[in-house]
Amino acid sequence: MSFNVAIDGPAGAGKSTIAKAVAKKLNYIYVDTGAMYRAMALYMLREQVNPGQPDKVSEKCEQADITIAYENGQQVVYLNGENVNPYLRTEEVGNMASAISTFPRVRAKLVELQKSLAAKSDCIMDGRDIGTCVLPNAQVKVYLTASSLVRAKRRYDELTAKGEVCDLAKIQADIEERDYRDMHREHSPLCQAEDAVLVDSSDMSIDEVITAILGLCEKRQ
Ligand code: C5P
Repeated sequence: MSFNVAIDGPAGAGKSTIAKAVAKKLNYIYVDTGAMYRAMALYMLREQVNPGQPDKVSEKCEQADITIAYENGQQVVYLNGENVNPYLRTEEVGNMASAISTFPRVRAKLVELQKSLAAKSDCIMDGRDIGTCVLPNAQVKVYLTASSLVRAKRRYDELTAKGEVCDLAKIQADIEERDYRDMHREHSPLCQAEDAVLVDSSDMSIDEVITAILGLCEKRQ
C-alpha cells in the first residue's frame, strides 16, 4: 500500500513550497492538485466558457483531458496533450480555477485522477479537500495555515522581489475573498479534517514547518 501525506490549507499558506521539500526528502512524488483545477480553468478560458453557465461548464469539462507526468522530478500537467505548465500561474487562471472548482462534475473528474495517482505511488498531495475527501485514509494529514496578513506579506515580498509594484492591503483583501469562497462553497469546502494536525506557520520558518511534517511522517512509518 502506498504512503500518502495530505496537506490542505488556504491560498498562500506555503503548501506547495513545503510539500515539494518534504517530497524531495522522502523521495515521494508531489501532487499539486491546484494545478489540475488551473488546467481545467485554462481550458474554460480558451473555450470562452463563462462560470455563470453551469450546464456549459459541466459539458465542456468532459472534453478536457487532463493528465500528469513527472519530468526531471517536476509535475507537468497536460491538457489535451499539451504541456500547459507555463500558463497556469496567472491571476486570471487562479480566479477562474476558484470559480469552476465549485462544480461537482469538475471535482469528480479531477478527484478520480488524484485518487489514482495516490493509489499507485507514495505521495504528498496538497489542495483544499485532500484530507477530507480525496484521501480520507492518508497516513498523515496536515492543515497548514497562517494569518491572512502573514500570507499577504509573503506574496507582497515575492512580487516586490520581482520588481512588481503592489499594494499589501489589496493583496490581503484578495486572499480573504479567496478564503471565503473556498471555505463556503457547497461541494468539498476547505476545512480541517478531524484527524488532521493543525500547523500555523505564521511564526515559523519554512525549515521548522518541514521538520514538523517530517516528524509526523516518521511517527506513522
Ligand atoms: O492551490 P491553487 O491556488 O493553485 O488552487 C487554485 C484554486 O483551485 C483554489 O483557489 C481552489 O478554489 C481550487 N482547488 C480546489 N481543490 C483543490 C485544489 C485547488 O478547489 N484540491
